[in-house]
Amino acid sequence: TLSDRLSATFKNLRGKGRLTDADIDATAREIRIALLEADVNLGVVKEFIAAVKERAKGAELTGALNPAQQVIKIVNEELVEILGGQTRVLRFAKRPPTVIMLAGLQGAGKTTLAGKLAKWLANQGHTPLLVAADLQRPNAVQQLTVVAKRAGVAWYAPEPGNGVGDPVAVARNSISIAQQKLHDVVIVDTAGRLGVDTELMQQAADIKAAVNPDEVLFVVDAMIGQDAVSTANAFAEGVGFDGVVLTKLDGDARGGAALSIARVTGQPIMFASSGEKLEDFDVFHPDRMASRILGMGDMLTLIEQAERTFDAEQSAKAAAKLSGRGDGEFGLGDFLDQMKAVRRMGPLSKIFGMLPGMTGDMKEQISGIDEKEIDRIEAIILSMTPAERENPKILNGSRRARIAAGSGTKVSDVNKLVERFFEARKMMTQLASGKMPGMPGMPGM
Ligand code: GDP
Ligand code: MG
Repeated sequence: TLSDRLSATFKNLRGKGRLTDADIDATAREIRIALLEADVNLGVVKEFIAAVKERAKGAELTGALNPAQQVIKIVNEELVEILGGQTRVLRFAKRPPTVIMLAGLQGAGKTTLAGKLAKWLANQGHTPLLVAADLQRPNAVQQLTVVAKRAGVAWYAPEPGNGVGDPVAVARNSISIAQQKLHDVVIVDTAGRLGVDTELMQQAADIKAAVNPDEVLFVVDAMIGQDAVSTANAFAEGVGFDGVVLTKLDGDARGGAALSIARVTGQPIMFASSGEKLEDFDVFHPDRMASRILGMGDMLTLIEQAERTFDAEQSAKAAAKLSGRGDGEFGLGDFLDQMKAVRRMGPLSKIFGMLPGMTGDMKEQISGIDEKEIDRIEAIILSMTPAERENPKILNGSRRARIAAGSGTKVSDVNKLVERFFEARKMMTQLASGKMPGMPGMPGM
């Protein structure tokens, strides 16, 4: 696996403080092979590797992870990001019905997906209507009615004298039927061909124009590998879509198609289909797909555990020092470690971003301030001698001037930091000694 290969590449690296360019190049080669084996598009691989290299070069090795783990962590995070980061949820119309249109090649799994989606929505209290706008294949309509019955939802299919042979009319009619019968979601199944062709694109585009969907989902078979990218591009151009559904993930596809499509079209993957039964369906999880592509779910779990343990150890040490039981006093070095631990939880903007009522402007300000601030604090502390970090009381005027010059900051910045440190230490000491309620574990930030 990739993790074995990387571990071999990094055997001699333990104890180094930073990854060298040569180390990173060696890693990049291994990751490149892994991605190509997972069937990721070559252009996407190149772009991706460049981004990872860039990040790895700036990465400092922490005590928690060995170099191989560190790089895997970066690769994984970048993969998850490209795969959409967070799962995007369906957008419902302000005024029902919400119209969802499915598009894709023949055999991609659209009709099956229509049933899965309908059942999933029905379970959440929606009242979906399945619409048979695939009039291409002789038994397509019948297949859809079977699927709808299995899903326990209503369907709309052309009858003699009502839209037979005209998928656009069927789709259009279905909307007023849904309004009359109070279906809050309409799922329009469409015809596919074996390959991309203009007639098919035109029909799909016409249906789209007739029903004005809230979501057009491009359904694609994950097993088709490299072809997925050109097909996705053709549908993006010919029809346009808002989200992707990957099907047949129960097959042995490594998921490279997913990465490629997400990257190339810039549209999120929203659902995953993994079998012929209606239950084989889930919202798409970028993190799970990333570990599938890397072939290392266990490794990623290990990395998370290592980091958590490391944080816990660090916190325990800091807490011991603060309560006077540990080795030496709580100094500026410990202070910096604590700051970094908080930073590892993710950008504060992300944490604040989850609070309701924050505007984009406010988020930007917060993220700008805290990241820059921590960078400055880090620079200042790193410009101090170990003795100064250990015992900040010795920081007289000339030392402060030297530190400011060394860190590219002003003496007033150094003063502010030292003042803040003493205040924080006082507060944390009180916390740790139990004079204030709420014990450490997370010393005082
Ligand atoms: P459509 O032409 O796009 O409507 O595709 P269908 O829904 O008719 O599916 C084509 C074939 O793929 C059928 O035999 C389905 O049972 C099968 N299929 C659909 N989705 C999946 C899936 O996620 N996994 C597997 N193994 N088979 C699937
Ligand atoms: Mg079909």
